[in-house]
Amino acid sequence: MKITSAKFVRGITVDDTLLGNTIPQIAFIGRSNVGKSSLINSLTGVKNLAITSSLPGRTKEINVFLINKNFYFVDLPGYGYARTSREGRERIEDLIESYLFNSLYKQKKVVLIIDANIGMTDKDEAMLRELEEHGKDIIVIANKIDKVKKSDVKKQIAKIEGIASGHHVVPYSSKGKIGINTLMNIVLK
Ligand code: GDP
Repeated sequence: MKITSAKFVRGITVDDTLLGNTIPQIAFIGRSNVGKSSLINSLTGVKNLAITSSLPGRTKEINVFLINKNFYFVDLPGYGYARTSREGRERIEDLIESYLFNSLYKQKKVVLIIDANIGMTDKDEAMLRELEEHGKDIIVIANKIDKVKKSDVKKQIAKIEGIASGHHVVPYSSKGKIGINTLMNIVLK
């Protein structure tokens, strides 16, 4: 399957009526600056669809994109950005929690993005476990794989797979154009 159209709908908060309709939702979540916007851009083939920025923590709302006119990509704000106030961080974490765990929305899939070079952080693992506890259909992305030394790639992936056993782990790089088709096939299935 291919992505033939991708359109930004709008930035929303969790109680927006937009999410209440029956269009299936695929959620993207990850640490701030993990490369989530670049991943959405590379996956859809639309360069500036999700704003990419070297300034972490910029996206503070939920951005919704309509894909192939029949499902939503839901771009959640990045968690764990250190250089914001505690209230700011808590507000973002509340927003993520309400959308993923305290709403009636049934996400079709949740794409959890990890920085392959850094590996799974405590926050990433906590998020993974919470997603598991809630029975989500999880895909783990080992992102920015181009940054990992060639000789370390296998070891680094195995480490992430060890923690994320039972879920798809997809090595990915927007810069190196790695994993795009694999992820597309899993997501659009
Ligand atoms: P977001 O904050 O998670 O949405 O992350 P962005 O997509 O804005 O990217 C954050 C930073 O990571 C930017 O400086 C990007 O250029 C960089 N980045 C994103 N994807 C990749 C990748 O696949 N490889 C490398 N090496 N850098 C990346």
